[in-house]
Amino acid sequence: MGVFFSSLFSRVRGGIHPETRKFLSAGCATEPVPAPGLLRVPLQQHIGAPAEPLVSRDDHVLKGQLIARSRGPISANLHAPTSGTVIAVGHFPAPHPSGLPVPTITIRADGKDEWGPRLPRLRPEDADPEEIAARVAEAGIVGMGGATFPAAVKLNLRDRYALHTLIINAAECEPYLTCDDRLLRESAEEVADGAGIMARALGVARIIVAIESNKPEAAAAMRRHNIGMGYPLEVRMVPTQYPMGSEKHLVRAVTGLETPARALTAELGVVVHNAATAQAVHHAVRYGEPLIARNVTVSGRGIARPANLRVLIGTPVADLVAHCGGFTEEPERLLLGGPMMGQPIDNLRVPIVKGTNGILALTRAETRKAETMPCIRCGTCVQVCPCGLTPFELNARIQADDLEGATRVGLMDCVSCGCCSFICPSSIPLVQGFNFAKGKLAEKDARKHQQEETRRLAEARTAREEAIAEAKRAAMARRKADMAAKKTREDAAAAQGAGDPSAEAQTEAAK
Ligand code: SF4
Ligand code: SF4
Repeated sequence: MGVFFSSLFSRVRGGIHPETRKFLSAGCATEPVPAPGLLRVPLQQHIGAPAEPLVSRDDHVLKGQLIARSRGPISANLHAPTSGTVIAVGHFPAPHPSGLPVPTITIRADGKDEWGPRLPRLRPEDADPEEIAARVAEAGIVGMGGATFPAAVKLNLRDRYALHTLIINAAECEPYLTCDDRLLRESAEEVADGAGIMARALGVARIIVAIESNKPEAAAAMRRHNIGMGYPLEVRMVPTQYPMGSEKHLVRAVTGLETPARALTAELGVVVHNAATAQAVHHAVRYGEPLIARNVTVSGRGIARPANLRVLIGTPVADLVAHCGGFTEEPERLLLGGPMMGQPIDNLRVPIVKGTNGILALTRAETRKAETMPCIRCGTCVQVCPCGLTPFELNARIQADDLEGATRVGLMDCVSCGCCSFICPSSIPLVQGFNFAKGKLAEKDARKHQQEETRRLAEARTAREEAIAEAKRAAMARRKADMAAKKTREDAAAAQGAGDPSAEAQTEAAK
């Protein structure tokens, strides 16, 4: 085992070993949480354009009913998490650090939790890859590890790349989070089946389930269920090291293949899907169930009773905190997701969305707060960066407002893992600066795109107006010619009537 890990370690670049504190919830079996009274379903729970709402205020909806349709190639459908009445289609604070309101459908549950008609069941053994991908799209499944990239888009990559391997990402490298660990321990058979279905859609024969070395029970459960739809599953232990769950780093650790900056792992023939996504695919294909629930870890010393919960999408954070006995003390940090990449929130009414894998209430004792000091050029941030970047240099350029320079030294290759900030002895909030700079660049790009779009529309309008004016000019010229011809004919007719010898010539001219 030691030799095996040392060879894997040689494949892993950078990374850190924060205290995992998974013991707080790892022993807690997943509990289903009943539907809350009010559910809020934001229209954008995925990368890509917000979905288009299909319901209005006062509409009655059934569980699983399509309530918003995907808009665009990387958007996703949304379904009612339970039965009830739509009481608003408007703006509500987002589960996002900005806390800004986003378009949201609010449903008052009727307490019946009554299913509408489910999608027809598919027999994946007989289904075409396209049918499987279409079903996954219909069910609104997105990457449930937090990336929220529509899963069907990845399943359709078989047409563009020569794929050979599917990796099921069960690394769960963020401290505190244990919902994927419990998922494998409790529902390995469903994960294995979902993985097999996805392998069929992708046209690959090899499936590797990657699990961090600190989850031996999960690995044992997967080894007991190591066939999914006839495909053998290879369980691969990877070192417990943050950010092992980051897609490109996992591919490197498992296969030794290095994905170039800004390239897709699919270009190397490898597709990565999260373990919870595999389970959602199993439910959608075998039972026609859309993605309306997910597993969430609620943890941190600030939570009275840490737990792993099965919750409906749209459930307010406040309901889950209450379900876990409330706070032990005023939390110093409240996060959606893990402590490294999670989103800070200050509003407990925000809902759980498809990408939410945790709620953390961290006390003062669990959070490191120190005064920011100047950079001492110790280079520790460079050693831990899994992307091979020079964080202190990136930071210097951003501080100098030199975003172009920051881009040149790899700003867009940064995966925002936070390893550099975590390790920095001067407590410089490096990743926060990188995220801010990326946001500014995205805004600039969006503005440029909008300006180009406005120019394109203006040019199209000018061309349209010119075409209309040209058509009018041509019509006018035709009318004038017609009138002239008519007049000539009339003159000729009048002349003929008067016995004019040139009448014959005029008639010819009129013709
Ligand atoms: S770890 Fe901090 S102090 Fe050291 S070089 Fe990086 S930014 Fe500077
Ligand atoms: S946040 Fe970015 S720069 Fe810092 S360690 Fe992670 S990838 Fe490297």
